[in-house]
Formats: sequence, C-alpha cells, structure tokens
Amino acid sequence: MKVVCVGGGPAGLYLAILLKRQNPSHDITVHERNPEGSTYGWGVTYWRALLDRLHTYDPESAQAIEESSVRWTQGVAHVRDQVTRQPGDAGHGIGRHRLLEILAERARGLGVRLEFEDEITPENLPEADLVVAADGIHSTLRTHHADRFGAEVTEGRNHYVWLGTTQVFDSFTFAFAETGHGWVWCYGYPYDDGHSTCVIECAPDTLTGLGLDAMDEAGRLTVLEKLFAGILDGRPLTGGASAAWPAFRTLTNRTWHHGNLVLLGDAAHTTHYSIGAGTTLALEDAMCLADALREHTALPQALAAYEHRRKAEIVSAQSAARLSAQWYENLPRYIGLPPHRMFALLGQRHSPLLPYVPPQLYYGLDKAAGRLEVLRRFKRWLGPRAARALHVRS
Ligand SMILES: Cc1cc2nc3c(=O)[nH]c(=O)nc-3n(C[C@H](O)[C@H](O)[C@H](O)COP(=O)(O)OP(=O)(O)OC[C@H]3O[C@@H](n4cnc5c(N)ncnc54)[C@H](O)[C@@H]3O)c2cc1C
Repeated sequence: MKVVCVGGGPAGLYLAILLKRQNPSHDITVHERNPEGSTYGWGVTYWRALLDRLHTYDPESAQAIEESSVRWTQGVAHVRDQVTRQPGDAGHGIGRHRLLEILAERARGLGVRLEFEDEITPENLPEADLVVAADGIHSTLRTHHADRFGAEVTEGRNHYVWLGTTQVFDSFTFAFAETGHGWVWCYGYPYDDGHSTCVIECAPDTLTGLGLDAMDEAGRLTVLEKLFAGILDGRPLTGGASAAWPAFRTLTNRTWHHGNLVLLGDAAHTTHYSIGAGTTLALEDAMCLADALREHTALPQALAAYEHRRKAEIVSAQSAARLSAQWYENLPRYIGLPPHRMFALLGQRHSPLLPYVPPQLYYGLDKAAGRLEVLRRFKRWLGPRAARALHVRS
C-alpha cells in the first residue's frame, strides 16, 4: 500500500511508524512543511495510561519517550500569596521538539521516507492508496473538501499564550494573579531537566485592559514575568514562534474520511489545552487507524471502522475539555473561595454539575461524597442527568 501522510506532527509520524511495523512493504512518506527540528509549542503533558499503550504498540519509541520525559506527583496552586499543595496529581511532560525527534528517528529507522520543507496542497498532492491529513487544526486538505467533512469550529472566549521558561517546576503549578483589569493565570509544568512550559490565559477585557494585545513581544514578556515573578523565581519567559494570544478553537468534523483521504489528530478534532490531551488523542488516533487498517482489508470499511470507534472513544475527553474551558471562563465564580476549596473545585472542573450548583454547596457535596458511598453514587447519577436537563433548557 502506498501511504502519503501530510504533516509530521505526533499523529502523522506515529501512524507512519505503526503502519510500517505492521507491514514493512508499505511505501510510506511523511511530508512536513517545516524544516526538521523546528516546531511550535514547548512541552506537553500526558499520563501513565498513554505510556502503557505506547509500550504495547511500539516498545522502542515508547522507551525513548519515557526516558526523555519528566514526572511530577503533586499539584500546587498559588492564589495571590497563598499556596496550596495537593498530592497525587501525577503526570508526565516531554518537550514537543524531543517527542518529534524521537518519532522521526524511529520512523526513518523503519524505512519511512520523511520529506521536510515540503508543503502539500491539493494541487501537488502525490498519488497514493491512502492519504492521511495529519496537518493540524488548519488542515489544508480538510479545508479543500470542507463541505464533505462538515467541520465546525467554536472559538473560546479567553486568550492564551504558550511560553517556555528555564524555571523547572517541581509540580504541576497553577498561579492566579490579580490585576487592575481582572485575573491572569498560568499553568506551568516541567518538560525536561532544564525547562518548563507556561500556558498563560486571561479574559479578553484583561488582555486589552493591560494592553497586552498592543505590546510587542518583549513588552508582553516583561509584564508577564512581573505578574508571575513568584513562581518563576526571577527566571525569564521565552516566547518564540508560539508567542501569539489566540482564542482556542475547538474543532469537530461531521465525518472523518472521504474517498481515500482520512483525518487524523488535530485535523479531525481539537480539545482545549487545559486538559492536556491533544497529543495523547492524536497518538491514539494513529493506534486506532493502524488497527482498523490491519483488521479490514477493504479501505472504505477500515476508514469507517476507525471513524466509528474513535468518535465514540473521544466523547468524554471532548466533554471534559469543554467543561474545563468553561471553568476558566467562569473563574470569578470560584476565585473568591478559600484557596484550598478553589483548588479542589479546579480539580473537579470536568464535572457537568459544577456550573449549575453553587460552588460552596458543590464543595460540601463532593467532600461528603468522598466519605459516603451512597452519596457518591447519588452524585454520579445526578451529574449527567441534571446537566443534560439544564443544557436542554439553556
Ligand atoms: C497551548 C497549548 C498547550 C497544549 N498542551 C498540550 C499538552 O500538555 N498535552 C497534550 O497532549 N496536548 C497539548 N496540546 C495539544 C497538542 O499540541 C496537539 O493536539 C497535537 O500537537 C496534535 O498533533 P497533530 O499531529 O494532530 O498536529 P500538529 O502537532 O499540529 O502537527 C501538524 C503538522 O502538520 C504540518 N503541516 C500543516 N500543514 C501542512 C501542509 N500543507 N503540508 C505539510 N505539512 C503541513 C505542521 O507544520 C505540523 O508539523 C496543547 C496545545 C496548545 C495550543
């Protein structure tokens, strides 16, 4: 089978690896528009369950990913000058550059052709049995067949910037800073021994009120370094190619395949960065598509099976991402709580019930549910039903 993967991000590279492992006689090329070693973003988070799946699908790349990742076991929240720690919030981080380097090296080693600085358009798309659009949220190939795929994009209200720093956080770190124009907050996590990621977010009025939208990059970084001096410990923030202030775009598609063209990763769906799942979902898409292509000899059946299974699997992540984005959009509702309660509800932000129950009451209910099995079951039962009813009304 001749396979053309458009996009050398995690989705495209990992699919190439899995298909080549499945059948070394496949002729697979990954076309990436950027030069090798250059990409956007800093570190990405993931959880143990992904690592286990990666070990099952390709132990060699999984081992390299594990060895290049850092791990934390706690969460910490800074609200004004108060600090709350919570044990048990274990996670992993890896630099996006390093992850892509590992996947590219592995793909090459298996005999996949990698063509960098090779931008694919519908006009220069090579002939193939299977064309994989792994070209990210702005996918050119998907846009070309927009009416077939039925893409829908919802833009979040808040704005964010994806930054790096040489400050190495020892935990997943949240910091909320109050300004004269509203709150600005940061999620920080380490991704190697010398660096961390900082994603900084605020409401549109705060962005314009502070003039962040009108400043040059150096000016913006200076303002943010002052706001988060406490957690940065005097270290600088770095912007680079990722230093814009977009609003997050949540993408869904009615269908994920058309003829021999199939959508993978961010080209098919996006989930708000505050749940740190986009890369994991992209890699799992690749696993699912590789499975479907192994299990079905006819391409249409394989692509249909992939779409069917994967759409169902990602529903809960999509819902968690929407609720998480909403939690931050409603920050004023929670930020006045005592910090340990605010932090507890931050951990509960995927709950469909939370937006509709007074935060103090929810906190009390949640605490009680932690102690009483019967209440826990009641809360589980009430959650989806109550939220569904309220969604219908709103
Ligand atoms: C602020 C922020 C923080 C995030 N943090 C996390 C996190 O902590 N954990 C996590 O799991 N995910 C995180 N994500 C999400 C994650 O970055 C994406 O979901 C993931 O990169 C998707 O992988 P992909 O391969 O589908 O797309 P991409 O990584 O976007 O790769 C697409 C590739 O296609 C290339 N391309 C595009 N068009 C063409 C073309 N026409 N021809 C050739 N090449 C082309 C691009 O250059 C790019 O290399 C975050 C996202 C944001 C915005």
